Amino acid sequence: MIQIVLDPTTKKSIEQIHWNWFKFRVMQLKFSFFPFPTYYSYIKKHVVFFDSSEKKLSTSQKRRLFYKRLKNLVVGEFSETGENSFIRFINLNGKKKGLEKKRLLIAFGYDDFSMMPGHSKWTTWYNKNKLWYDRFKASNNGEDWNTKVLCEKLGVDVCPYCNRQYIYTYERDNVGKKNTAEIDHFKPKSKYPYFSCSLYNMIPSCGICNSIKRDDDRDIVYPYKESFEKKNILDKNFAFFRMRRKDKVPFKTTNVYRIPKTIKLDVVGSGIPKSRMDNSKEMFALEELYSRHELDLNDLLLRYSLYGKLNIRALSQLLKTPEALIKKVILGIPLQIGTKKEFVLRKFKEDITRQLDEAAEN
Ligand SMILES: [Zn+2]
Repeated sequence: MIQIVLDPTTKKSIEQIHWNWFKFRVMQLKFSFFPFPTYYSYIKKHVVFFDSSEKKLSTSQKRRLFYKRLKNLVVGEFSETGENSFIRFINLNGKKKGLEKKRLLIAFGYDDFSMMPGHSKWTTWYNKNKLWYDRFKASNNGEDWNTKVLCEKLGVDVCPYCNRQYIYTYERDNVGKKNTAEIDHFKPKSKYPYFSCSLYNMIPSCGICNSIKRDDDRDIVYPYKESFEKKNILDKNFAFFRMRRKDKVPFKTTNVYRIPKTIKLDVVGSGIPKSRMDNSKEMFALEELYSRHELDLNDLLLRYSLYGKLNIRALSQLLKTPEALIKKVILGIPLQIGTKKEFVLRKFKEDITRQLDEAAEN
C-alpha cells in the first residue's frame, strides 16, 4: 500500500476542473421531458438538503447553500466518517422508504433510471445522457474531462494498493486516450451511490486490485492519506514485508540465495491499527501474491549474497561513491526515489533489503 501524493497545484487544478464539470455539465443537464427542466431542479424537488432552521432562507440563499454542500461532497476532502454536510442530508433522506428511497438513489446518480416506477421515459433518457459516474466514465461523453484524463492528471503510474502493476494512460492514433488503470471506488458505489463521483473516493488502481476489492467496504488503509510506508524516521505507523523461513532456521546472509524454497512472506506492521492492516493485506491478497514473486526475490537475494555488505563497502571506497548508492545499483533498487514517480515492487525490495542488512549485522 503506497500513498498517492498530490502537489498543491495539481490538487487545486483537479478539484476545480472536476467541480466545474459537475456543476455545469451534470447539474445543469437538461431533462427533455416533463416535469423537471434540469437535473438540479429534479434534486431540489426530491431531496431534502436543508434542516428545519434553514427553511426560512431565501431561494438564492438556499441555492448557494445547496451548491456549497454539493461541492463539499464532490471535491471536498473525502471523509470516511460521513461528516460531510451533504451526507448528513442524504442520511436524513435515507430514512425514507419505498418510492422516495428509490428517487433518492436515482438522484444520487449511480443506479439507473429503469428503477423508477411508472417512468419508462427515464430509462431512455438515462441511457442517452448518463449521470454522475457513468457519465464521467464514458470516454465519448463529449467532454474533455473523464476518468482517463483524471488518471493522467493524478499522475499515479503504479497501483497504490499492490505496488505490483504499472497503470498508464496512453495515446493511440485515431482512438485517443486509453487507460490501463481502473478507477476503484474506495467506498463502493453500489453501497454509497452519492460518493460515486467524489474526487477523493476515486482511486486509480490496477484491474486486479479493483476486481478483487469490488463491493468490499472493510476498513482499509486509505491511499490519499495513508500507506504502509514509514514516512520519516520518527514515524511509527507503517507496515513492511518480511521473509520468514518455514523451517524456522534463522537467516544468515551467507546462504540467503537458498532461502526461497522454504520462504514465507509476511506483512507485519507497527502503529497502523491491526484490523486495518490485516484487512488491507487480506483484501488485496498481498502476502499470497508477493509470495509468487519468487523470481524477483531470488534475484534480489542472489545479488545480496554475491556482493554482500562487505563488498559494497569496499566498492564504495574504491569508487568514492556513497554506500547507499552502490547498494541500490547492485541490488537493482530504484535510484530516483523522492521524485513523484513510483516503481513497481520498490517497497518490497527496500523492505527485504533492510531485513537482510539487519541479519548481516547480527
Ligand atoms: Zn494493484
